Amino acid sequence: RGREFVPAVVVGTGYGSAVTALRLGEAGIATTMLEMGQLWTKPGRDGKVFCSTLNPDHRSMWFARRTEAPLSTFLWLDVVNRDLGRPYAGVLDRVDFDNMGVYVGRGVGGGSLVNGGMAPTPERAYFERMLPRVDADQMYRRYFPLARRMLGVNSIDPRYLEKTPAYRYARVSRKLAQQAGFRTTTIPNVYDFRYLQREERRQVPRSALAGEVLYGNNHGKQSLDKNYLADAVGTGKVTIRTLTKVLAIRRERDDYVLTLERIDPWGKVVWRGELGCRHLFLGAGSLGTTELLLRARETGALPNLPAAIGRGWGPNGNVMTARANHLWDWTGPLQSTIPTVAVDNWHDPIHPAFAEIAPLPVGLETWASLYLAITANPERGRMVFDHVHNKAKLLWGSGQSNPAIQSAKALFDKINRSTGTTYRHDLFGNNERFAADFCYHPLGGCVLGQATDNHGRVKGYRNLYVTDGSLIPGSIGVNPFLTITALAERNIARHLPTLP
Ligand code: FAD
Repeated sequence: RGREFVPAVVVGTGYGSAVTALRLGEAGIATTMLEMGQLWTKPGRDGKVFCSTLNPDHRSMWFARRTEAPLSTFLWLDVVNRDLGRPYAGVLDRVDFDNMGVYVGRGVGGGSLVNGGMAPTPERAYFERMLPRVDADQMYRRYFPLARRMLGVNSIDPRYLEKTPAYRYARVSRKLAQQAGFRTTTIPNVYDFRYLQREERRQVPRSALAGEVLYGNNHGKQSLDKNYLADAVGTGKVTIRTLTKVLAIRRERDDYVLTLERIDPWGKVVWRGELGCRHLFLGAGSLGTTELLLRARETGALPNLPAAIGRGWGPNGNVMTARANHLWDWTGPLQSTIPTVAVDNWHDPIHPAFAEIAPLPVGLETWASLYLAITANPERGRMVFDHVHNKAKLLWGSGQSNPAIQSAKALFDKINRSTGTTYRHDLFGNNERFAADFCYHPLGGCVLGQATDNHGRVKGYRNLYVTDGSLIPGSIGVNPFLTITALAERNIARHLPTLP
């Protein structure tokens, strides 16, 4: 054929991709993973691989001139974000569309490098409502436990939670929620809580207690490079090409041909070329996978792709908000970046919300309680292909976030009323109390059973699979990576016997 060929290609190195590559490798199938971000193992001049949220540098953002932290101001001052100098292949990206900014991780491990590590299992009834054709028995008996084990999900020691200064912020928020009559719960995580305790005693280098999370954790977090991806490469069958972006996909006879571009960390293109494969697994995330398939359909490269591609997109009902506490309810200058307590109002019949108590690790007392609420917003957006700019565009109206805001408002109005406290207006810009114009949990675009069959095989083409968060129809009720991992395990188990 005159071009390089591999039996299987996996695009991306996030949750869906990592699961798929490991299982392909174990089955003895030579697999190449293609990742547009870097391998994050080389320390910078400060001896650290990642920079902290308090002192971000060029490593923080994906080709940006300034950091774009979710909290844009503090006391209305523009003190949060920093200029970065020369754009660089940093670890966190924010992709901006009209009315919605989407945060994603870039690098070997995808979102696992930058996320908060929270790994709750969705409530079964809601899972069944969102994915009615998936065998829930099998998921809850086999694949959720498998995903939890593989990812190293663990829970905080309740005695430690009650006494550590690092979770005073969580205890204060929990107390006020309980005073208002709400249920609270702890959330499992992939950050090693035993490591956290040793951090506090200064027996090991600090990470969660040193403001690290959004731009990567140097220690403690069991990101995908430490489990699935390490195991995948360990099979001897899986290789990862970094800083290599898939630009386009086409079909030639029985094979797929990918157009690739490799850059150096400063963005200079160092190579362009093609790679052929027989089996193509797309795990580039909700935005990445949907864009690749829209481009293939709309440019005529894969004209038989279904109309359902691009549909069913949602931000998992994400809303951020913050409250101001009374002076005696100080939240503490030392705050673990790893959230582990939530206010659970999911069973509210009108305004369901699962609100995680988030840290504000600025190193000084703020009297603020910050939250990421996940709501059951039924609104869905649509991704379409913008031919002029050769990229995907998200159609999401500003009013589509309103149901999410109403659910969060119902919960926090009640807490403020019961405890005599108020909202903070200084954190999200424009005096806003609720921020629902950005999300951490992009989901959908290639929905299971609609754009694909019931196991992620894309309709209209053979040997073409979707493995990531784009399979989930816009909402799953809790933080999504455990579900993405478990679904990917379920799907690849179905495909393996059909592969050569
Ligand atoms: P991703 O993890 O997004 O991986 C996709 C990969 O593909 C990326 O590495 C990307 O660089 C690469 N890629 C994309 N396009 C291309 C291309 N064309 N060519 C080559 N490579 C490409 N979820 C939770 O469950 N718990 C949390 O606590 C949590 N906190 C979060 C905090 C933040 C700040 C963010 C941003 C996300 C958080 N999430 C959390 C969400 C979670 O990380 C994502 O849901 C998850 O990573 C999605 O997995 P995925 O397999 O769909 O794709």
